[in-house]
Amino acid sequence: MLKNLTVQILIAGLSAVIAAKLIGDSSWLEEPTTFYELILMLKVAFLAALKMLIAPMIFFSLISAIANIGSVLKLRRLGSVTIAYYLMTTLIAIVLGLIAVFFIHPWESYPPTLEQSLTFSESRMIDPGSDSLIAILQQLLLMAFANPFHSLVNLNIVGIVTSAFLLGIAMVVSLGADSPLFGLVRDVNTIILKVLGWIIRCLPIGIFAILFDFALKLGVSDTFSADFLTQLLQFSILVTLLTLTHGFVVLPLIAWLSTGRSPVNLIQSLAQPLLVAFSTSSSAATLPVSMKTAEETLEVDRSVSSFVLPLGATMNMDGTALFEAVAAIFLAYLYGIELSTLMIFTVFLMAMISSIGAPGMPTASMSGMQIVLLAVGIPLEAIAILLVIERPLDTFRTMVNVQGDLIGTLVVQRFTQDRATPTSN
Ligand code: ASP
Repeated sequence: MLKNLTVQILIAGLSAVIAAKLIGDSSWLEEPTTFYELILMLKVAFLAALKMLIAPMIFFSLISAIANIGSVLKLRRLGSVTIAYYLMTTLIAIVLGLIAVFFIHPWESYPPTLEQSLTFSESRMIDPGSDSLIAILQQLLLMAFANPFHSLVNLNIVGIVTSAFLLGIAMVVSLGADSPLFGLVRDVNTIILKVLGWIIRCLPIGIFAILFDFALKLGVSDTFSADFLTQLLQFSILVTLLTLTHGFVVLPLIAWLSTGRSPVNLIQSLAQPLLVAFSTSSSAATLPVSMKTAEETLEVDRSVSSFVLPLGATMNMDGTALFEAVAAIFLAYLYGIELSTLMIFTVFLMAMISSIGAPGMPTASMSGMQIVLLAVGIPLEAIAILLVIERPLDTFRTMVNVQGDLIGTLVVQRFTQDRATPTSN
């Protein structure tokens, strides 16, 4: 049992938290001891190793996925089912969040604690109209059509995905099936996956270092009023419960309805990538583990998983969309801003767009959050409030983001393959 990677990760995570509580000292944050510096070095090195392969992996696995599909017709089918699944699940997540907040808003038993800090010029004057939407779209398009080399170096995931798509489709359309380029791309992909396998072996060490640091930093708090802290806590609990409901009830239900796979068995099969997502707070960094799980445990065809997962790691973020929508409603209340129906709809739309554009990195949705806040006239400084509680919440939403992608491989396989591959229950 100790040889099982999931068990090793669990033991590493638990011992990190216990060790941080027993031997850690918050003074280390100011004056790090050699031991703490060593932990930080391991953490940084492990995250760098995961990050090192993100760009080439997304790029080559998408090109090779498209090349493997081999025909534009099949690609269109796979693409449309995948996008339809992404949009549908993100939509469900946001609607779940908004409906729940409509009925459950515990923070409203306290007054809008930040109302006084709202100055006329920085809010309400912002028009939630088309200007901001066009500006966002323009920004997305500029990212999408950036120089591919620039995108690869700077980890511009939207750019990497777009160029991989264009190059992959052009390869299929213009080269004969016997072109050596197809083999080359496949080989590069295999080599990258091999290196990733080695990095995955080091997960227990990396997770120990990450969680030790995390546990040490937790507990260092700011000075806020008791009412405000209670409101923050209420928001955190609600958003976590909603995120988990989406991940552990809604998504498995979708998988069960479309593939017949039992929810309990499904969650068990996803344990490894979910733990990694939880500890790294990065869908992109979890991608290698997700790829392995989809192929080996979920038995999804590689042509499906290598298309759905890299694309999902950047486009499909149910947890992020839900978080952004609920956070916007919560912040609007704190600042005493009345949200009209149009504004709530704008929150919905912006949460959707920004979750599609957010890269799968820790705290990535904070940049997208600006779009949501600006659109409804909430001051941008509100982001600082979210940052206080951001880290623990990111763990859960990243987990659900990854869950959405993995369940997506099953659903997409079910609806794109003429004879669905039997799934083991
Ligand atoms: N950390 C999230 C992810 O990687 C993105 C976010 O919501 O900040 O999926």
